[in-house]
Amino acid sequence: MDQNNCGCLDQLIFDNRFTQKMVADPSAIVQPRQVVGASFSKVAPNPVRAPSLVSYSQEMAAEIGLDVACCESADFVDVFSGNRVLAGMDPFAMCYGGHQFGSWAGQLGDGRAINLGEIIAPTGNRWTLQLKGAGLTPYSRTADGLAVMRSSLREYMCSEAMYHLGVPTTRALSLVATGEDVLRDMFYDGRSEHEPGAVVCRVAPSFIRFGNFQIHAARGEIDLLRQLVEFTIESDFPQLFPDDGIVDTGVILSWFREVARRTAIMVAQWMRVGFVHGVMNTDNMSILGLTIDYGPYGWLDNYDRGWTPNTTDAQGRRYRYGAQPGVASWNLAQLANALYPLLELGGDVSPLQEALDVYAQEFTECWHHIMAQKLGLDVFAEGEDPGLFEQLADVMESTEADMTNFYRALADLSADELRESTEQNLPASLLETLYRADTLSVIDRRDMCAWLKRYGRRLADNKITPLQRREVMNSVNPKYVPRNYLAQLAIDAVQSGDHRVLEDLMEVLRSPYDEQPGKEDYAKMRPEWARHRAGCSMLSCSS
Ligand code: AMP
Ligand code: MG
Repeated sequence: MDQNNCGCLDQLIFDNRFTQKMVADPSAIVQPRQVVGASFSKVAPNPVRAPSLVSYSQEMAAEIGLDVACCESADFVDVFSGNRVLAGMDPFAMCYGGHQFGSWAGQLGDGRAINLGEIIAPTGNRWTLQLKGAGLTPYSRTADGLAVMRSSLREYMCSEAMYHLGVPTTRALSLVATGEDVLRDMFYDGRSEHEPGAVVCRVAPSFIRFGNFQIHAARGEIDLLRQLVEFTIESDFPQLFPDDGIVDTGVILSWFREVARRTAIMVAQWMRVGFVHGVMNTDNMSILGLTIDYGPYGWLDNYDRGWTPNTTDAQGRRYRYGAQPGVASWNLAQLANALYPLLELGGDVSPLQEALDVYAQEFTECWHHIMAQKLGLDVFAEGEDPGLFEQLADVMESTEADMTNFYRALADLSADELRESTEQNLPASLLETLYRADTLSVIDRRDMCAWLKRYGRRLADNKITPLQRREVMNSVNPKYVPRNYLAQLAIDAVQSGDHRVLEDLMEVLRSPYDEQPGKEDYAKMRPEWARHRAGCSMLSCSS
């Protein structure tokens, strides 16, 4: 593999703090193994046979100073397929562990993610560039280090969509087809098939997860744990790093509170837009409070608090939509356990518990604000509004309301129209957003009518104008989200050589709150064919 100059990409300025400051695995053996006494392993991406660019993110490219010509150059494909390592890059895979589905799983690590290096963008922002699907690392366990097009496209597309939706997330720069096949057993039923391989370049200020701290704590590697905590605070939470450089119990607790706060904001935003992560294991929790690891995620079509897209989780539904706020809290408790050995608390764990409580406080505060905005209320009324929202959730669930379209339709109804609805004459625009409009029972009609009237009455106390109410609602209730079936259509098209569907979809998802006349097809409810189709309503971890 070359390590050399590469045209327009030479302007990238690398400053690889993680590999400079943290302890490296002394072994260069790539074979899967336990890596003890180190935080990462140096490992180069695997070259691929015939890489070609499928798509790149204009916004991400602009942020790091790459123009169109550069992104469409052969050099770009070479570098972001893993075929060429630039001078200044220092590729590595991180060691982390995690709790998977509630049980400690030991070492996991970057099994197919290879960090290329950390750049300082022209904006002054720092970004780590990471290839996902670029080959084996010491952390690949029994797998191959590769990724298929369907899951790579889903990650690439959704992370950029989340960014435009205003949800904290890791980003994606590029999606490259490798020109090589990957063998996958999509539903773990013994029917393996060859699928086209792909590599996504993910981008984030840092890819450190809760699990990076957990693995050192679990192994009793307290010096490495301390080093990682100090590194993380200094690099990614500089406002909390003390002038004297002494990271004591107080500093660690302030930092933990900040992690809890950011995690709460992230999950509240997921709940706002109807995103279900699908695999909220602690190794998939970013220390920066960013949505990370887009695998068997999904978007609510019909509102259903019990829904999970992940077939691996179909039994316990641990990571269902409605459970996400609680799971994040549980995950933070695991992080707290990992940090415990660094804290001098004299046997009194209450400061740690108080730090953990920040999560619930922040989540509640955010969620109240979001609920009010989703309904276009100027303030959240503590007495009335939790009930109003809960009753709405029940109605949406039993009538199978489309999570996205229902709120947009609601924004168009005036307080008078709401109050005047009757059981026999429910607003047609709302009925259109129900998957069960044709089979509503008398009780469904009664409940929906009762709610609409309640909401209409509540609006009488609203201090903002009807126009402002609609604006507020439409600024938090997106019109366009990367619905599961839309992603599948883009995948089908790309796999048959047509990139336009993906480009169109990405374009629409750039402005998810705008009406975008002519693009309404992308706001259509899930078609019947997608209700039970693999990739649309059910996804496995096989990717
Ligand atoms: P995930 O469920 O995607 O978060 O992955 C859990 C762990 O499995 C992580 O350590 C991943 O790096 C690893 N992993 C998942 N898929 C692969 C693969 N195809 N090759 C190697 N490691 C993988
Ligand atoms: Mg993961």
